[in-house]
Amino acid sequence: MPAVGTYFYNIFHSLYTVIVGMKITIKHLFTHSATVQYPTVKMKIPERARNRLYVNIDDCIGCDQCSMACPVDCITIDTIKSTPDVDLGLTSKNTKKRLYVPRFDIDIAKCCYCGLCVWPCPTDCIVMTDVYEFSEFDRKKLIYSFSNMSTDEIAGAQERLKKYDEEQAAKKAAVKAAAPITPPSSKPESSAS
Ligand code: SF4
Ligand code: SF4
Repeated sequence: MPAVGTYFYNIFHSLYTVIVGMKITIKHLFTHSATVQYPTVKMKIPERARNRLYVNIDDCIGCDQCSMACPVDCITIDTIKSTPDVDLGLTSKNTKKRLYVPRFDIDIAKCCYCGLCVWPCPTDCIVMTDVYEFSEFDRKKLIYSFSNMSTDEIAGAQERLKKYDEEQAAKKAAVKAAAPITPPSSKPESSAS
């Protein structure tokens, strides 16, 4: 059986620790909060924060510079050359578009948000957005496709280019066939010493 002194000491110690704990709690009631009630409350994103990428495909000239700069190869771009009879128009920066972009995929699951793809773009069409909430259960949904070409449009562009290349090859062959055949130049044989 504990001594009477220990008994009262324990009561006093319990009350003391409760008072110390309550003092800390009450102090924090009047201290400015360092956290926010996310996701109900969201903090302001810094101006140059790196988040989800976006590509304005209408301004993309298919130059591939963003893809070449990417250290983790998460940008995949396919292009098709346009033929002279097709005018693909200009970008918003007045750059002439010469390539179709049937595929422009970014696998954002691989992206490390380094931003190296953004700086080399000559038309400023690949940008970091302020979107940072894009988790998915299915990994495939993290591959963002930005091309706006339909299957028929891609097939049409490929067909036109194939036809154009064949016409050019035929023209070259015709020119070659029409050219006069020049005899091989006869070199004087060097006399053995
Ligand atoms: S931010 Fe970096 S890792 Fe992500 S796509 Fe651009 S270059 Fe690649
Ligand atoms: S660098 Fe810009 S213009 Fe060139 S392929 Fe990438 S997004 Fe398109």
